[in-house]
Amino acid sequence: MGAVITTSIITCPVCGHRSPETMPPNACQISFECPHCGEILRPKPGDCCVFCSWGSENCPPVQQGLGSCDRPSSNPQS
Ligand SMILES: [Zn+2]
Repeated sequence: MGAVITTSIITCPVCGHRSPETMPPNACQISFECPHCGEILRPKPGDCCVFCSWGSENCPPVQQGLGSCDRPSSNPQS
């Protein structure tokens, strides 16, 4: 396992603005406000956080193979 990438570039789907963001190592962010247009981004269905949906990198828990951040990996719906 290599080093975990903690910076992800979030691309806003509305205005296309790219915003480098530092990801918390053990938690996921479920909303992100675009600094350019003010759109509130939410994770896509099936994704645990905005970084997995809109970022250039997946969130640290996913990179480490821990599954998602908040969701129990035994969730039968997933
Ligand atoms: Zn935007």
